[in-house]
Amino acid sequence: MLNKLTIKEAHQGLINKDFSCQELTESYIKEIKRKDKDINAFITTTFDLAKKQAENIDEKIKQGEKLKLLTGIPVSIKDCFCVKGVQATAGSNILRGYIPPFNATSVKKIKDQGAIILGKVNTDEFTMGASTETSAFGVTKNPLDLKRVSGGSSGGSAASVASAMASYSLATDTGGSIRQPAAFCGVVGLKVTYGRVSRYGVMSMASSLDTIGTITKTIEDSAIVLKEIAGYDKYDSTTPKVKVDDYLDELRGNIKGLKIGIPKEYFVKGLNPKIKENVLEAAKKLESLGCEIIDVSLPHTKYAIAVYYIIVPSEVSSNMARYDGIRYGYSTTNDKNEIAKNLMDVYTKSRAKGFGDEVKRRIMIGTYALSAGYYDAYYKKAMQVRTLIKKDFDDVFEKIDALIAPVTPNIAFKIGEKTDDPLQMYLEDIFTAPINLAGVPSLAVPFGETKKMPLSVQIIGKHFDEKTILKIGNKLKNLV
Ligand code: GLN
Repeated sequence: MLNKLTIKEAHQGLINKDFSCQELTESYIKEIKRKDKDINAFITTTFDLAKKQAENIDEKIKQGEKLKLLTGIPVSIKDCFCVKGVQATAGSNILRGYIPPFNATSVKKIKDQGAIILGKVNTDEFTMGASTETSAFGVTKNPLDLKRVSGGSSGGSAASVASAMASYSLATDTGGSIRQPAAFCGVVGLKVTYGRVSRYGVMSMASSLDTIGTITKTIEDSAIVLKEIAGYDKYDSTTPKVKVDDYLDELRGNIKGLKIGIPKEYFVKGLNPKIKENVLEAAKKLESLGCEIIDVSLPHTKYAIAVYYIIVPSEVSSNMARYDGIRYGYSTTNDKNEIAKNLMDVYTKSRAKGFGDEVKRRIMIGTYALSAGYYDAYYKKAMQVRTLIKKDFDDVFEKIDALIAPVTPNIAFKIGEKTDDPLQMYLEDIFTAPINLAGVPSLAVPFGETKKMPLSVQIIGKHFDEKTILKIGNKLKNLV
């Protein structure tokens, strides 16, 4: 079962010539053909491309070329990333058939290392959602229980890794989209500091919150991929020239004496008692490993969902303006069944037909929140409260090294359970959205289980201190 190997193990196997890159790639292709009919993680598969890439890598191995850690490792990529020459839909009908002419920076970086791209995976439409149920390509089912959602928006990424249909996945997190599906599927999800990884070539949802990260089988694998995709990019002005750590090396460091805070506001009514118990269990374990556990307060947490669901739609309403039926994707001008009488008609009809309900809902809310009479009351107020939420984190991080908290209020919910009630769906983000508002990094680590479904804990760190949360997570998993 080559497709069960971690990145590190597969790398070692390729070096030792235990198997070829073509065999490794074929094991994933076989698994996708076997399982994805039921799971529906992939929107587009690129098997021919993958096989060709694998052949090239085998040639390089034969010639004795030194392999980098990601060389020859098969990956799935969330469908809001641009991969040159491969359809990118962002889960939307409006981009069906859109073929980007360039690579996202993160994609380019792994491609330059010789990554094998298996295909593009499902997401809620333009990453707006928490279950992949807003995708125009159907829901991605949870590999551990096909009646349940895989989470979202990066449900395709999490499901593909959890079911061994990809070694790792590149994904995005604006309010929880990496951590929540990782938690639902029992895999590792890393949301990085805002600006740590370039957003260039990834379709924007809410630009002041969007981050690019990873879903992997192990924390070691997260460390490996982050090292390769992090850093300054001249095409994204929000990536500072902060040193990229050797995350893999740092995993071996000590966690004795680290101060870890438990924020009391994250243990609210509505949190599944099993999840609460599990987080406290994890904290106890860290204490036994020499960490100091401290009760802390992030007093403005209760405003986070309200603030997030003003700021995100406001930025969405602006970011979605580019899908106008002229520049990319679906247009009434190419549709025999739609007659547009004038330019305005092309805009409105293309957008009405191309966008799904959740995107339209956010465009309307955002346009309203930004409109002349309401800007001060909604958008400006939300931005002021966002500053207070961020300050909560700044204050607490003066005294502690990391926080431990739940990822989600509950385990993976059933398909269809929340689709009629957007507010219920928004509450999925209660423990993840504040972290995006503050811009700090956070890791969802599989830990424990209930009723055969995985549980997860969230380890939140200081700006650009991914190394510490990865190290804590790894120790929590009993690994060096
Ligand atoms: N569920 C959240 C939302 O719908 C988060 C999405 C994300 O992180 N992309 O906005």
